[in-house]
Amino acid sequence: MKVTLQNLTKKYPSRNKKQPQDVIAVNDFTFEIPDGQLIGLLGPSGCGKSTTLNLLSGLQKPTSGRIFFGDDDVTDLPAENRGVGLVFQNYALYPHLTVKQNITFPLENRKGKDKLTKAQMAQMALDAAKLVQIETLMDRKPSELSGGQQQRVAIARALVKMPRILLLDEPLSNLDARLRLQTREEIRRIQRSTGITTIFVTHDQEEAMSISDLIVVMKDGVVQQIGKPQEVYDSPVNLFVAKFLGTPPINVFDGQVKDGKLFIGSEAVLEVPGVTGQPVTAAVRPEGFTLSESGALTCRLSGVEVMGRDISVISTHPDSQNAAIRSIISAENQVDPASAMVRFDLKPNKVFLFRKDTEARIRF
Ligand code: ADP
Ligand code: MG
Repeated sequence: MKVTLQNLTKKYPSRNKKQPQDVIAVNDFTFEIPDGQLIGLLGPSGCGKSTTLNLLSGLQKPTSGRIFFGDDDVTDLPAENRGVGLVFQNYALYPHLTVKQNITFPLENRKGKDKLTKAQMAQMALDAAKLVQIETLMDRKPSELSGGQQQRVAIARALVKMPRILLLDEPLSNLDARLRLQTREEIRRIQRSTGITTIFVTHDQEEAMSISDLIVVMKDGVVQQIGKPQEVYDSPVNLFVAKFLGTPPINVFDGQVKDGKLFIGSEAVLEVPGVTGQPVTAAVRPEGFTLSESGALTCRLSGVEVMGRDISVISTHPDSQNAAIRSIISAENQVDPASAMVRFDLKPNKVFLFRKDTEARIRF
């Protein structure tokens, strides 16, 4: 099911007399989500992710704008008629019901021609439970399950109605690191096998990057960039997106463009043909550095961490905005940790320039 957001806007009253202007939780969001894809909705806490999901699910009404499922305008359709499956961070299972009863719960109150027999409901619950591999736990209560198992029950409950759209709001936040990894892969697998258009909300960029067909990066209610994870990583449109994606984070420097060259401090570190002379913010991905004795950028070495395949060189520079610069270099390189200085050349496709005023990307 294709989902279209058309100028979707949600304002809340501020309730703060000193700052009486409305909070714009979602600001003019327009996007067509292709059928059958997994969309990662990504941004820091408070940027409007949950509000966007709640508008799609029908739990909240937009201030303006429209929502379409396929060709149907669902903006005024109540939540229960939209055919969406919802999963939240806190699994919100009924503690007194068994796993099976929790999963069949959304099927219980169907009326008329939609009414299901006990046997039909049991079969549907079993099918949904098999998708998330909890079919052996059907008679347990939620308190007898681990966090990961509880979240699977919540996912099964969202899937049992065969929803047109699956909405997941930070579904992995309550799980430990290992389970998070495992469950996110499982969500990806379930999404692939069912083909349900899915929107997955997270503040964790790595999580979004790893499982999404497309990511949508939001800030302060405003969509910053939409694209395939790798495209957004390789070509961020502004400084916010560049900083939000990537671990370790991108290294940010105050720089200056003069005569088609990027200067950091007094050193010309990269040719940037066609860029007008101006002060800039220069950002370098950790993998954008190569060690070189005659390297263009000289930094003060503060440490070397060996990580098996790679080494992480930690250094400082007076014009770095980060307290420490992290460069990821192949472990075939040798860095003497006792050296005072380390010199790098920069890979042009791993260096991004941004305007000082608007923080928009300057291409070269
Ligand atoms: P996220 O899920 O990305 O953390 P939310 O969508 O929950 O963000 O919130 C977006 C913004 O809207 C925040 O500034 C939040 O304080 C505000 N907000 C959310 N819900 C309400 C509400 N019911 N009333 C007023 N402000 C709200
Ligand atoms: Mg939220």
